[in-house]
Formats: sequence, structure tokens, C-alpha cells
Amino acid sequence: MTNASDSRAAKLAHLRSDRLAKGDPIPLPLTMAAIFHAPGDATGFNQYGRFSNPNWDAIEEMLGHLEDAPCRAFPSGMGAISAVFFALLKAGDRILLPSDGYHTTRILADRFLGAFGVTTDVRPTSSFLDGGFDGYRLVFVESPSNPTLDICDITAAADAIHKAGGQLVVDNTTMTPFGQRPLDLGADIVVAADTKAPNGHSDVLFGHVASRDPNVIEAVTEWRENAGGIPGPFEAWLVHRGLETLELRFDRMCSSAEIVAGRLKAHRAVSGIRYPGLADDPSHNLARAQMERFGFLISFDLGSEQKAEDFINGCELIHAATSFGGVHTVAERRLRRGDAVPPGFVRLSIGCEPVEELWAAMEKSLDRIVA
Ligand SMILES: *Cc1c(COP(=O)(O)O)cnc(C)c1O
Repeated sequence: MTNASDSRAAKLAHLRSDRLAKGDPIPLPLTMAAIFHAPGDATGFNQYGRFSNPNWDAIEEMLGHLEDAPCRAFPSGMGAISAVFFALLKAGDRILLPSDGYHTTRILADRFLGAFGVTTDVRPTSSFLDGGFDGYRLVFVESPSNPTLDICDITAAADAIHKAGGQLVVDNTTMTPFGQRPLDLGADIVVAADTKAPNGHSDVLFGHVASRDPNVIEAVTEWRENAGGIPGPFEAWLVHRGLETLELRFDRMCSSAEIVAGRLKAHRAVSGIRYPGLADDPSHNLARAQMERFGFLISFDLGSEQKAEDFINGCELIHAATSFGGVHTVAERRLRRGDAVPPGFVRLSIGCEPVEELWAAMEKSLDRIVA
């Protein structure tokens, strides 16, 4: 990890220090409130739970510190993506989405944006720059894409999109700000599901939008206040607590993934493995250039639905579950979510278990499916 990222990590747990008065609690107090004491002039303080909450302020300060940009919190990753769509787009706009990105973003665009006169095109991440970006108001990139882990050159995409007059939105969920900083690479907006590694304990849904463009922040703030898609104070408090250990968990998960990916690749049950950290992966060189770590997601093919199910269900240190980024290692056969992948295609999210224990359990389960 770079020094800049170490210094961000070190400061993260001390952001509130300057404002503490003698006797204040060091951890963030939970503020469950729909209304606040509000006599007189109605500006400049908390008044109503749809407008503001001290736990939102705290989490937005933390996420803003990590993104180096103003942030707004949302009740889920899709809540954040919806805010970007509905606050920034108008009838007649065109948008471009990755065909291999998070499927719900495409469903949202197809099912709802179309009815408001917004046209959506899709394109695979691996050849995302081909065809240019003329006419697109917003272009979404997910890199590495989920679940095939292809990578898009964010700087080159940002340059081309800006020349064409559009804005680049990066869904940075798979990497977190400790793994990749899209705004530094030229992106205009970051969206992320903090449901995943930032919260990290698989008990909350949460999301955020970050941008250095004040118009974007103003628009999504207004959208949140008026549409009512607001995060709960307790959820904000939990994600705040999760973020305090993100750097530690992310470091462990990425380091373990690097080890596990190499061993999976060498196992005879496994084919078509994708992990940006593998030296011969198609994503490797670009990953080295634009990512700070290679991430904790690995995908591979076990040849059939049965073998994939047997591997997942037969491994005592893997939970069969969707989602990723939690402390527990989880895996899922992605065809069942409708991704365009073979029946035996598995997405594995490496958790925080000690890596040798984890690998021993995986190897045992893999050996069993080829026995
Ligand atoms: C999970 C996920 C989302 C959606 O997040 P929710 O919190 O489930 O709404 C968006 N993008 C990516 C890449 C995701 O993995």
C-alpha cells in the first residue's frame, strides 16, 4: 500500500478528535432522532431526519476523507446509483453501461429510465473504449467488473468521455477507496455499495456517492432530501464502525486472495480463473497501473453446476451466499443471478479467515469434486 493510503488509514480513526470536549465519548454516539430541538430561525442546524442526522455527517466525513471528495450517504448501493440517475439525467439523455457490470444497474435503467425518455446502451468492459463516447451524458464503468473481473482503463475512458462532453461514473464497489481511487484517475463521480467491504460484516445495506463536482453533490443531496431515500441513523452508525477496520480487513482479504488465486489456478479442478493479481491475467498490467491492490474477488469455472455446488457446499470455510466483501469467505454460482457466465462459474469473495486454514478447507473440497 502507498504512503498516501497509509496516512489516510491512520487519520481515519481520529477525524472527530479535534471536536471532542472533555468527557465526550470517543466512539461515535448513535443519534436516533426524527426531530430535533428547533426554536426560532430554521437554518444551520439539525431539524428533521429526512434532511440531516449527526451519524450521516460522521459517515460522510469518513467516506469523504477516504475519497478525498464530498460524499453523500444512501440506504444502499442501488440507492446511491438511483440518486445519480434521477438527479442528473433528463429526457433525451443517453447513457452507457457495462454489459458485464452489476445487473441491477441495467435493470434500473431498462425498467425505469427508459420510461422517462433516457436511452441506455451497453458495452463489455474488456473493450469499453471501442466505439467512443459521443452523445453520452453519463458513462458508467465498473472496474474490475463484477463478476468476470475485466478491467477498463479509467484514465483513458475519463479523457475520451470528457472530450465528448459527458461525465464518467465509476462503480468502485469491488475495490473500495483503499484499492482504487477513481476520482484521482479522472472520474467525475464514484458510486459504491458500502454493503460490501466498507461495512464488512454482512449485516447492513449502505451506499455512497462521491464527487469533486459541487453540482453533482448538490443534485444528489436535493434528490435524497426530496425523494426520501435516506439511510437510517443506526445503519450509518454501523457502517461508521465497519469503516474503522476497513484497511485492516481489506489488506488481509487482498493478501489472502493473492495466495489463494495462485493455488486455485494450479488445481486441476479449476479452469478459466480470473484474478487481476495473476501475472498472466488479461487484466494484470492495467491493474498494476491503476489499482493499489488486486482485490479479494476471484472467479473461475468448475466445469458444471453440480461440481460448483459441491465445491461451495462441501467447503467448511465457505458460506454459500451472494454478495461479497464480508469477514466470511462466501461463494456463489453466478448463473443463478442471471450473469452471462457458464453453469459452473463461481465467484469467490475471500474473507478474513487465516489463509492457510482457508486454503486447506478449499483444497479438500476441490479434491473431492475431482476424485
Ligand atoms: C452490491 C453492488 C451494488 C448494489 O449495492 P446494494 O447495496 O445491494 O444496493 C452495486 N454495484 C456493485 C458493483 C455491487 O456489487
